[in-house]
Amino acid sequence: MINDTSLLPEDIFRILFEKSPGSLVVKADMPHFTIIAASDSYLQITGSTVNGILGKGFFDVFPEDNTKFNDDVNARKVFTRVVETGEKVDVSNYRFDVYNPEKKINEIRYWSCLNTPISNADNKVAYILNTVIDITEEVRAKELAIENENRLQLATEAASLATWDLGLIDHSFICSPRLGEIFGHAAGAQFTLADIRGQVNADDMKNIILKAYTVAMKTGTYLYEVRVYWPDGSLRWIKTQGIVIYDDRRRPARMLGTVMDTTESKRDEIRKNDFIAMASHELKTPLTSLKAYIQMLTKKLVTFDDDFVRTALEKSNYQVSKMTDLIHGFLDLSKLESGKLQLKKEMFDMNKLIEDTIAETDQTMPGNHIQFHPGKDVAVNADGEKISQVISNFLSNAIKYSDKGSAITVHCKKIGENVQVSVMDKGIGIKTKDQEKLFQRFYRVESDKMKNISGFGIGLYLSGEIVQRHKGKIWAESEEGKGATFYFTLPLKG
Ligand code: ADP
Repeated sequence: MINDTSLLPEDIFRILFEKSPGSLVVKADMPHFTIIAASDSYLQITGSTVNGILGKGFFDVFPEDNTKFNDDVNARKVFTRVVETGEKVDVSNYRFDVYNPEKKINEIRYWSCLNTPISNADNKVAYILNTVIDITEEVRAKELAIENENRLQLATEAASLATWDLGLIDHSFICSPRLGEIFGHAAGAQFTLADIRGQVNADDMKNIILKAYTVAMKTGTYLYEVRVYWPDGSLRWIKTQGIVIYDDRRRPARMLGTVMDTTESKRDEIRKNDFIAMASHELKTPLTSLKAYIQMLTKKLVTFDDDFVRTALEKSNYQVSKMTDLIHGFLDLSKLESGKLQLKKEMFDMNKLIEDTIAETDQTMPGNHIQFHPGKDVAVNADGEKISQVISNFLSNAIKYSDKGSAITVHCKKIGENVQVSVMDKGIGIKTKDQEKLFQRFYRVESDKMKNISGFGIGLYLSGEIVQRHKGKIWAESEEGKGATFYFTLPLKG
């Protein structure tokens, strides 16, 4: 209530009011609601001037648009309510566009305002203090968030993805209805996180999910594909991918993710692998006898004085060996994919294995200068046949991707508790961007130089898997045009 403002020097009161955020005082002289004071920021945010509004009726300055406002936000009704009830009225969100003279357009603006009655000595409302805040930014941000959420929902629905959100601290679990469908639950059926976890194949839970979880805690992301069983007992495949959200103390707080049913593509892949395995197996037998005949013929014709026949046999032997290697590669690939690639570990001397593999390579791909620098104390516990395959793959690549007859150097070294083997060539080399992808299945560098060199991109993938199963490391170092060096290490003790 005001009955005497002389307690404050008038100038101070005026300055305080003028500097206050978005404030306007109107007289309670219904229906005019004459404006008697406006703060600087009110003038600024509404694009008005002192002369343009002071002493004028509120609705002469800010015309009413009854089509636009409902009763709750209609200024005349709000002011009237304040005067009649003597109570504060809060209008939390309304739109009132403001003319921008520079751009010559009406700009969309959202506001929140508080209308406080100021009563005189008779307890009658004499003025209304109208305080407005421009909330356009907040409203826009909220609209954008809703729009993004809708867009995300549309995208996940279009891709038949389920989404889920797992609280790591409060153990909350929220998911989209699609998750139930992916796990074979009837529409609308209730299920818990424990229910769907119970549907995951036990081996995959131990070997894939728990490992992915440990990795996710370190890296912040996860991706895995596992087998699940529907309530009717049928086997399905799901792929899940997501991120970890951390709280302000950098503790993992939530895991968010999407789940996709990959059963169909997995079945296709299994069918394709089965076909490759079967075809390779069928091709192996005739090829083995073809090779045996060629070898027998070669022996018989040592003394035969016809260069053409001898060269033709040598070439046939080379081509058959190449084909045999390819088929073994496909067989190993399908064994690997179906989890049947087993390691048979035994102690052997790595130098000896390298020498034997170089000798075999010399036979099948003759005409190269392979230099070997053996290491000391390199007895290792590993699967000799598989490791020989890795070395052979390094060697045949070194030959394939260099000029005929250029130098190839093999090193074997004991480094701490590991043995390191490297194969260096002076060939075409590999761009940095391709180096990390070389060990992916079917990856082949795309370049003009590669066009005439045949291959399927499975040799290094298999080598990588073999070395990793020995808990070793495999990598390549190279400069394009200057050759490449391929390395692997194995723990000596296996
Ligand atoms: P393939 O040789 O049958 O294509 P690999 O898996 O053995 O398959 O090799 C994958 C790719 O890596 C090759 O296609 C080639 O692009 C690249 N690569 C492998 N070894 C070398 C090398 N010594 N020099 C240059 N590029 C190489």
